[in-house]
Amino acid sequence: MTARIIDGKLLAAQIREQVSSDVQALKAMNRSVRLAAILVGSSPAARVYADNQARTFAQAGVEYELHELADQITQAELDAVLATLAKDPGVTGIMVHLPLPPHINTQQTQYHIDILKDVEGVNPANIGNVLYGHPIIAPCTALAAVALIDTTGVPLQGAEVTVVGASRIAGRPAALLLTERGATVTVCHIHTRDLVRHTQRADILVVAVGKPGLIQPRHVSPGAVVIDIGINRVTATDATGKSATKTVGDVDFQAVSETASWITPVPGGVGPVTVAMLLKNTVRAARLVHGLDQPF
Ligand code: NAD
Repeated sequence: MTARIIDGKLLAAQIREQVSSDVQALKAMNRSVRLAAILVGSSPAARVYADNQARTFAQAGVEYELHELADQITQAELDAVLATLAKDPGVTGIMVHLPLPPHINTQQTQYHIDILKDVEGVNPANIGNVLYGHPIIAPCTALAAVALIDTTGVPLQGAEVTVVGASRIAGRPAALLLTERGATVTVCHIHTRDLVRHTQRADILVVAVGKPGLIQPRHVSPGAVVIDIGINRVTATDATGKSATKTVGDVDFQAVSETASWITPVPGGVGPVTVAMLLKNTVRAARLVHGLDQPF
């Protein structure tokens, strides 16, 4: 079998088109859509990422303000900035770029993001609402994984799903959303004994680990749907001996394509849909802040 490719770029473009028209509709009602992003420290890589993100929001018509804070900021000062943004009626969305400096507690910081403005769905209260089965705003990567599965038409209700990776930002929220959709979900992690036994019985395999080549054909049941959340930079050498860096997932894409029925590529799979979901959450947050949607 040769797997069909799940086109993340296409799905992302469809979501972004809808987001742009939703933003225009809000503006036509004189309702702002304004995202405040916080960047702590002066890492050039983080700055490039923040600049790219500013462009993405501008393309969707979302106003964007970047708050660049010094490396030495204290936890209390950072929490105070978040409290000010929470009260600011002109700001409808808030996000905090990670990683934060080691002296800052990430979870405490996320706890101070207003839950209605939390466009990444990272406030523990928002994760808790995903657990209760009525998300206010859910984490973007988990939403992306579910949306990509939905494009295949393979039903989630009753499906055996194995999620490899149990992080708070990717694996665990994906498992919760999939459980809510009626799938029977197994979550594997670094301490899982006999990973193959769990992955082989999956109709749908979702992988979020950060280890290139972790998932090989022997892990995958013939005809399974494979969603690769991993993003890894690796150095590869071509036939002429020239080496270059490239981005790959956690799944051996070429080999597993011979076994799976559907597979997401990396790049071009989960990544662009995660960005699109961030935009969609930004609209949702604006609608919540303006009282046009209700949290429950
Ligand atoms: P993390 O390091 O927080 O968590 C990794 C998880 O994998 C842990 O639960 C760990 O127990 C598990 N794990 C490690 N080795 C394992 C093994 N051999 N077998 C089974 N489980 C194992 O990572 P994260 O933040 O969840 O990110 C995971 C990957 O997903 C990374 O490559 C990251 O770049 C990528 N990611 C992509 C997106 C996206 O938008 N596409 C978003 C978030 C993360």
